[in-house]
Amino acid sequence: MDGTDLARRITESSAAAAADIRRRTGISPCLATVLVGADPASVTYVRMKQARCEKAGILSRHVALPASVSTSGLVETVGALSEDPQVHGILLQHPVGPHIDERAAFEAIAPAKDVDGVTMNSFAAMGFGLPGFVSCTPGGIMRLLDEYGVDLAGRRAVVVGRSAILGKPVGMLLLGRDATVTYCHSRTTDLASIVREADVLVAAVGRPRFISGEDIKPGAVVIDAGYNPGNVGDVDFEAARHRASLITPVPGGVGPMTIAVLLAQTVDAATRQLGLS
Ligand code: NAP
Repeated sequence: MDGTDLARRITESSAAAAADIRRRTGISPCLATVLVGADPASVTYVRMKQARCEKAGILSRHVALPASVSTSGLVETVGALSEDPQVHGILLQHPVGPHIDERAAFEAIAPAKDVDGVTMNSFAAMGFGLPGFVSCTPGGIMRLLDEYGVDLAGRRAVVVGRSAILGKPVGMLLLGRDATVTYCHSRTTDLASIVREADVLVAAVGRPRFISGEDIKPGAVVIDAGYNPGNVGDVDFEAARHRASLITPVPGGVGPMTIAVLLAQTVDAATRQLGLS
């Protein structure tokens, strides 16, 4: 499954929608990025998101805060962006540091601007099957499955990993599409036998080649969301591709979809806030 190509097409359509908003209102969609400290990986991620925004005609406003910022200082900054009519989407890069109440900081994002899908409001809306912004990587995975015409109703889906930004929401989205979902995690016993039953497998663990090829059910659809040092996923791709009917490579599968969904949701947020939808 080619995430690079699909992400490019989604981004092209976001760029066209951003240009249309500009033509109709004179206003460009704007994503605010907030970075606490200078963790090298976070700096790289934020730069990448800003560069993609720029290419798609989405303004980015960057707020860099020192690692020493307090929870109340961060909440105040995010709250001010939530109030600012020139900002349509807010991305708070995590991790924000161990001394900060991360949940309080995320909850300062207005739901209408939560284009990264990190607030309790967004999570609850997804759980209830109501409109709202989804966490970007799970949203990207669902778009990939749709692009390749994967029928989910009644299929057995296994999600390995249960983080709040990835494993848990992707399982909820699959459930919302009538898949029969099983979650696996670090306390799961006999994980391999559960994986072997998966018609649709989502690996979201963060361990290189954790899922071996021989555990893939013949004909299964395999989504590898893992991204480990050395550009290696959570699935042993070379062995798994011979058994899977569809599989995402690493890199070039799920990875590019995350930013594409972030940009698409930013343009959606601007469309709604400017009263254009
Ligand atoms: P995370 O918060 O560390 O969660 C990892 C999950 O894997 C946890 O639920 C954990 O179980 C489970 N796990 C760990 N060891 C396990 C084991 N031995 N057996 C079964 N389950 C195990 O990681 P994350 O943020 O969800 O990210 C997961 C992977 O996806 C990483 O490689 C990350 O880089 C990648 N990722 C990619 C994107 C993208 O844009 N492509 C975005 C986000 C994440 P417990 O809950 O029991 O600890």
